Amino acid sequence: MIDFSPPRIDKKTVEAVAKVMFSGWITTGPKTKEFEQKIADYCHVPKVLCVASATAGLELILRWFGVKEGDEVIVPAYTYCATANVIIHCGATPVMVDICDDFTINVQRIQTAITSRTKVIIPVDIGGYPADYDVINALVKSPEVKALFKAESPEQQLLGRILVMADAAHSFGALYKGKTCGSFTDITVFSFHAIKNLTTAEGGANCFNLPDVFDIELIYKQFYCKILHGQSKDAYTKLHGSWRYDVLEAGYKCNMTDILAAIGVVEIDRYKDDMLVKRKSIFERYTKAFSKIPSVIIPPYESDEKTSSYHLYLLRVNNITEEVRDAIIQQIFDNEVAVNVHFIPLPMLTVYKNMGYQIEDYPQTYQNYSCEISIPVYYDLTDQEVETVIKMVSRAIIDKTQN
Ligand SMILES: *Cc1c(COP(=O)(O)O)cnc(C)c1O
Repeated sequence: MIDFSPPRIDKKTVEAVAKVMFSGWITTGPKTKEFEQKIADYCHVPKVLCVASATAGLELILRWFGVKEGDEVIVPAYTYCATANVIIHCGATPVMVDICDDFTINVQRIQTAITSRTKVIIPVDIGGYPADYDVINALVKSPEVKALFKAESPEQQLLGRILVMADAAHSFGALYKGKTCGSFTDITVFSFHAIKNLTTAEGGANCFNLPDVFDIELIYKQFYCKILHGQSKDAYTKLHGSWRYDVLEAGYKCNMTDILAAIGVVEIDRYKDDMLVKRKSIFERYTKAFSKIPSVIIPPYESDEKTSSYHLYLLRVNNITEEVRDAIIQQIFDNEVAVNVHFIPLPMLTVYKNMGYQIEDYPQTYQNYSCEISIPVYYDLTDQEVETVIKMVSRAIIDKTQN
């Protein structure tokens, strides 16, 4: 069986983890700080905070910004449930909007969805392909949209407009107009979950790229406290000479451990010149092969302005129903190749259906979903396996779309 997305774990990873495990310090400490600095350097952002998951990272920001009951947060209908679930956790309302043909959030739809209750917009870089950040950033800064904004917390007052928080769970290393993902907008949240491009098994990071009116160093300190119960000192500092501490707020527990950060440091050191290069080459081989099948729509991953992180190869088949897509997938599985669908749109999930969201309101989302098949892309995928994937996927598409 050809797997869908196993992590790249080798001797180097295992040795780095073992080193931390034998060091006498296994939870948040120097390794996590080192990983944070490496992310900040890679992404060209002033400050990065590592957390237990992207989900935790997203929710922390919403809560920090004061998002609460009665508020609205705009998200694409086409994303993983985490993007919207965190809004529910805060008691606010996810306002879903449709996407464009290239899977990114439709900015015109954002514009019509904005109301005086809108506090945050969460664009998602699906598959690693960045959303149109310049247009979104300009929109929230435009006088008409700013005039609608009602500041109800000190942070909202300071910003004076809607916050843009990128869900960059897929897009570590992606580029947009010469910038590196992490620096496209106010806040960027990465995921280091096991199937993501850059992994720590579980984990996430928040990149702070807020306007100068915010004291980023102070904000980092506040968040670092927030993710450790609101404790004024972390355990590492306490053990090194100052035991007395206080609890400043009823904080959370969603820190990253040094064991996991050790995996991240190995990953990031070989990310740009090795991991991304390999992923790109797999994308290119798929594109070369699938371009020959007229019914296949090649996913967007490179344009004048954008370069993907090559996270998901979101292949589509023209003019097929969801049933035919599922039959194609079954045949591929029967031939020992694992494929996937990213994602079942939010309005089709029971929890959101029960809240009254309807897929009929998001035609492009349904269109992209119903004919989509994600195929394997990962570091250890061999040339021969790429050939097998191409053969089995092509054959299944041709078999199921004839007659
Ligand atoms: C994986 C994913 C998340 C959640 O990441 P975790 O680190 O597992 O919390 C959020 N958004 C999208 C689009 C994802 O694919």
